[in-house]
Amino acid sequence: MGFLSVLSFAQKLVEERLHAGGTAVDATVGNGVDTLFLCKRVGPRGAVYGCDIQPQAIERARRRLAEGLPEPPRTLDLQCRSHHELRELVPAEHAGRVDAVMFNLGYLPGYEDESGAAPVITVPATTLPALEAALELLRPGGVLTVVLYPGHDGGGEEAAAVEAWASALPQERCQALRYQFQNRRASAPYLLAVEKRR
Ligand code: SAH
Repeated sequence: MGFLSVLSFAQKLVEERLHAGGTAVDATVGNGVDTLFLCKRVGPRGAVYGCDIQPQAIERARRRLAEGLPEPPRTLDLQCRSHHELRELVPAEHAGRVDAVMFNLGYLPGYEDESGAAPVITVPATTLPALEAALELLRPGGVLTVVLYPGHDGGGEEAAAVEAWASALPQERCQALRYQFQNRRASAPYLLAVEKRR
C-alpha cells in the first residue's frame, strides 16, 4: 500500500481537524488543488480564504473551483496578495478560530515565463511572518501544514529557515512534526506540521 505521499499526509492532518462549516486558509493557492480540497471539506456552510502573489495562479485556481466544486463555501475569498498579509486577508472575527492553514512552498510548475525570467518562489522574508500570522489565526487544536521543497535554488535556505522557526516553537504553545521519506534524495519535498495547543 505504501505510506501516504507528503501532499496526501498534509491533507490527512487537515481532514482530521476541518469539518463541515469550518474555516480554512490556503496561504499559497498555486494551481488550486489544496484550495479545492479545503472548499469540499468545509462545504456550503464553511469559509475558505486564499492568497497567491501571481494573478495567473488565482485565475487557474478559480477555474479549477468553477469546474470541480458543485456548491462553493458561503465565504470563498481568493486574493492576489502576499501571505505575510494574512491578518488583512482573514477577517478579525476568525482570529484564533481557524481550523487549518496550508502552505505549499517553492514555485508553481508549468509557469515558466516566456521571457525566461526566474520563477516566482516563496522566500523566508515573507514565509516566516506568514507562518507566525497563520499560527495566531489557528484555534487550539487547529493545524498548520507546510510542504517544503529544498531542491530548487533558494529552497534549501527556505526549508532551513522554516525548520528553525518550527524547532523554536514552545512546546506549551504547539506541537511540531516532520514527515519525510528517509531513503529518498535529500532534496525531495517534505512536510512540517504544527498543531496549536493554546
Ligand atoms: N512547489 C509546489 C507548488 C508551490 S506553488 C509544487 O511543486 O507543486 C507556490 C505558490 O506560492 C506559487 O503559486 C507562488 O506564486 C506562490 N507565492 C510565492 N510567494 C508568495 C507569497 N509571498 N504569498 C503568497 N503566495 C506566494
